[in-house]
Amino acid sequence: MGKIDEPEQNEAIEAEHVDDFNEKLAYVTARAAEEGRIPAYLANELKNKITLDTFIASIIKMHDMYFDEEEDYFSLDEIDHVTIGTGYSKDIVELAMWFEECYSMSMDHISTSFDCPECGCDTMYIKELSGELFAHELECAQCRKKYSFELVFSDVDFDDFDDDDDDDFDDFDFDDDDDDFVDGFFVSRRRETEDSYIFNVSHGRGVWRKIQISKGDTLDDLSEAILRAYDFDNDHIYAFYMDAKGRTRNVPVFYPPRCLERQNAAEQVLEDLGLIKGSKFLFLYDFGDQWRFNVKLESEINEETPFGHTIKSQGEGPKQYDLDEDDDEDWDFD
Ligand SMILES: [Zn+2]
Repeated sequence: MGKIDEPEQNEAIEAEHVDDFNEKLAYVTARAAEEGRIPAYLANELKNKITLDTFIASIIKMHDMYFDEEEDYFSLDEIDHVTIGTGYSKDIVELAMWFEECYSMSMDHISTSFDCPECGCDTMYIKELSGELFAHELECAQCRKKYSFELVFSDVDFDDFDDDDDDDFDDFDFDDDDDDFVDGFFVSRRRETEDSYIFNVSHGRGVWRKIQISKGDTLDDLSEAILRAYDFDNDHIYAFYMDAKGRTRNVPVFYPPRCLERQNAAEQVLEDLGLIKGSKFLFLYDFGDQWRFNVKLESEINEETPFGHTIKSQGEGPKQYDLDEDDDEDWDFD
């Protein structure tokens, strides 16, 4: 199949884009049917008491509810919310939600800078492999062949690269917005300013960190400050969803520079974002574990700061790696 990145075609599709439940249901159900684990779960665990589409519909509805709740509800992990709400096994819920994510991504027409070596399709889904640091899987939207990040990078030519000699890095034009960024090689749009923002970054009731950061820093810098404030590692993909209600669909989203061709957080200088006191947005970290942080601009001050840092904190932050699974069970809602 040919590329689908002609601008006029994409615009037409975008204009027609509606978050249609039935369309999503049909897509996710079809994918779930292909995936042996889900029909097997229905047959073995649920004794075929419900049909596949009813099963998938209940997961999607529960997932949609998550976003309709007040923001305090974000203290509960998205996958946990659906697992607890439906009573289905967590790994099956996670799998169904990954298909739902694939649906959303295909509706938003996220393209990569490389084509699928198998079929030439230029829409690839990026998924983190659970428990593996730095390992990401790409899945072709069309033929659904899976690739590891490493395989894709070594096998694919970057057309936009001026690679007339071996040293791509020297030829890389940092001033050209059209150039692709390769993992590890990117430029930040950070600039010097004498003013700072104070953000309140909360994770559920009574748990927050106040972070001071230069207005000239970028969203990517803010991501580092948030992760430091909560003692999290910095090994996973994140996304900033620029929406006060914490919605993740049809809102501007910024990703780490290594997510090629997506809107790059390192190019988004904070003071250019049009934030005003009280502006809110969502920081989601690790697409596997789905840590959610609500970010709110609390104030602006005329004070220089070399890097984003925590100035005040309250409440114990979540543990990124909970090694004792039994602890999880204890705070289930018995
Ligand atoms: Zn393909």
